Amino acid sequence: MNTIAIGIGTNQGDRILSVSTVLKKMLHHGLRIIQVSGLYESKAVGYQSDNLFLNAVVKVETQLEPLEVLEILMAIEADMGRIRLQNGYSDRPMDLDILAVGSKIIQTEDLQVPHPRIHDRAFVLVPLLEVWPDWVHPQTGVSIESMAKQVQNQILQKIEPDDFI
Ligand code: AMP
Repeated sequence: MNTIAIGIGTNQGDRILSVSTVLKKMLHHGLRIIQVSGLYESKAVGYQSDNLFLNAVVKVETQLEPLEVLEILMAIEADMGRIRLQNGYSDRPMDLDILAVGSKIIQTEDLQVPHPRIHDRAFVLVPLLEVWPDWVHPQTGVSIESMAKQVQNQILQKIEPDDFI
């Protein structure tokens, strides 16, 4: 059994609806949802965009191998209208990343786990801390708690229910 943290990001279309749709699709593919973080809003990183991202992290359990889960996530992204550019970042209706698979380290061409770009991103680390407070990065030995502390200067807005009424 694998315990996997998946990062969800969306900055196009009805973002709240997209988060709920993606969770439903994960369930349909047999991923057992253990916990879903709160919703966070942040500015696009790595490129200019007026569209804010809505981010969350979901912790799942599955008998599937990480590569099989990656294939499912890429199919869900495509299904939700993701068009992959040759290079660079762009607005997207759905971006799904495998952040962590327990304490496994995976270094293949198609899949790197833990995700190589989580270290400096509050929009990943803060919701990951919520769903997996005792996770420790298997390559650095650094706890998720201290990783999240190191990025607390980054602007990250937690979305409260009232924000959507
Ligand atoms: P992205 O633009 O972030 O959706 O990148 C997706 C690509 O990154 C896919 O071609 C994957 O094979 C590759 N990739 C490598 N490691 C990961 C990971 N941990 N989670 C998701 N995609 C990954």
